[in-house]
Amino acid sequence: MIPAEIQSICVLPTVTLREALLRMDQTARGILLIVRSDTSLARTVTDGDLRRAILDHLPTDTPLSVLLEQAPITAGDEADASAVLALMNLHQIDHVPVVNMAGQPVDLITRRELSQRIWLSSPHLGAEEAAFVDDAFKTNWIAPLGPHVDGFERELAVHVSMGHAAALNSGTAAIHLGLILQGVVPGDTVFCSSLTFVGSATPILYCGARPVFIDAEPQTWNMSPTALERALEWARREGRMPRCVIIVNLYGQSADMDALLPICQRYGVGVLEDAAESLGASYKNKNSGTFGHVAVYSFNGNKIITTSGGGMLLSNDGDLVARARKLSTQAREPARHYEHTEVGFNYRMSNVLAGIGRGQLKVLPQRVEQRRAVFKRYQSELADLPQVKWMPEPPGFRSTRWLSCFTLDMPDAPALCDRILKTLERHQIEARPVWKPMQMQPVFAGTPYFSHLADHDVSARLFSSGICLPSGSNLSEDQQSRVIEHLCHAVKML
Ligand SMILES: *Cc1c(COP(=O)(O)O)cnc(C)c1O
Repeated sequence: MIPAEIQSICVLPTVTLREALLRMDQTARGILLIVRSDTSLARTVTDGDLRRAILDHLPTDTPLSVLLEQAPITAGDEADASAVLALMNLHQIDHVPVVNMAGQPVDLITRRELSQRIWLSSPHLGAEEAAFVDDAFKTNWIAPLGPHVDGFERELAVHVSMGHAAALNSGTAAIHLGLILQGVVPGDTVFCSSLTFVGSATPILYCGARPVFIDAEPQTWNMSPTALERALEWARREGRMPRCVIIVNLYGQSADMDALLPICQRYGVGVLEDAAESLGASYKNKNSGTFGHVAVYSFNGNKIITTSGGGMLLSNDGDLVARARKLSTQAREPARHYEHTEVGFNYRMSNVLAGIGRGQLKVLPQRVEQRRAVFKRYQSELADLPQVKWMPEPPGFRSTRWLSCFTLDMPDAPALCDRILKTLERHQIEARPVWKPMQMQPVFAGTPYFSHLADHDVSARLFSSGICLPSGSNLSEDQQSRVIEHLCHAVKML
């Protein structure tokens, strides 16, 4: 089957130069595809080819078949963007049709889109970051620590209504310190959401502790209360009660805290809230990242606001946050010389990067609105694709839609997702599968795992049928149109 967008630029060899010029004008792609009666591709005709034919004084009622002697430069269905770009450069052309096994054109790649990659989630600076960084230079506060670190901590804590915050050099470092502060020691058990980025879980291993993974639920894509309850019953039987549970808020949306927290409370286990992806979100009018005894944000380059790299540990317990600051600066004791009685880390955020963070924090509410608008446009423009099921946002939840994600609701979804991702990638559009769950990661092979229901592994299903689309707050309307066009095309071709 030839998709409609491609069909519109396909012509038979019997079409005249005049008709071809007209079609070229109407379709405005700068190229036509001459197809044989079996719809296989015979050659391509560019604007330039037609112009040269006219300049050569060929009558305008000449059929295109006079041009036929030229094998087209094409790419196969498996070609990626870099292979296509190499072809364009080699042959000094700006369009490459993609052909299927039967030689029929199924897609068209242009040099223009290859030169403008669309990212999944790219940094988006506001107006004030440069001034804060400039200030750090002017005052020579380039060293770690300094007024911007204190300012960023204070401003973020106020912004989300949490008592105290410690600025660190990554979200992963913040989770590591969070576990230590929850008293995790070698041999302990720590529960963690299975559907997450690996940075949620590796700090458990840094502590010498043993992870247990808890599946997601379909309504929120976050930790399943049913699975958590079963895991805790198991842990009690085994005499392996977890020191704490890491609850992750995925893709900008809080977990269902009213269901999860009472369970943790009943069993007397602490909660570390991994809000790396949910800064700016809320749950029942309370900010995401204020539910755990300890909570963590990340300012990695792809997050909703960024310091190019960084993290924050928050708690209402001031002593605990003070301890985080000490541990993050090599655990120096207060003494003129360097005195150490315990093992610390070099995890502090620098004053320069904290300056970027202060600027970014000012635009956070805007960034949330922009990401939500991106999601809304995907949802409304792709509404006629019933196979596409968006990540739900249940009543009471307000997601930032950090990433716009959907699952394909059809048999054979894994193979189809793979084809969609390949199609987007060859148009220089960065889309990704939903996080590969931790119980499926080789590094965690053999780790105990509790699925949502005995016969329903939700995170495995979301991984195999889910896709995250470009969602940046600086995604332009044109760029999003490109994503929508190619996604529509790919889904309709399934
Ligand atoms: C990004 C992320 C982290 C790690 O944060 P870094 O700042 O990259 O170390 C942890 N957990 C989740 C869920 C994340 O998305």
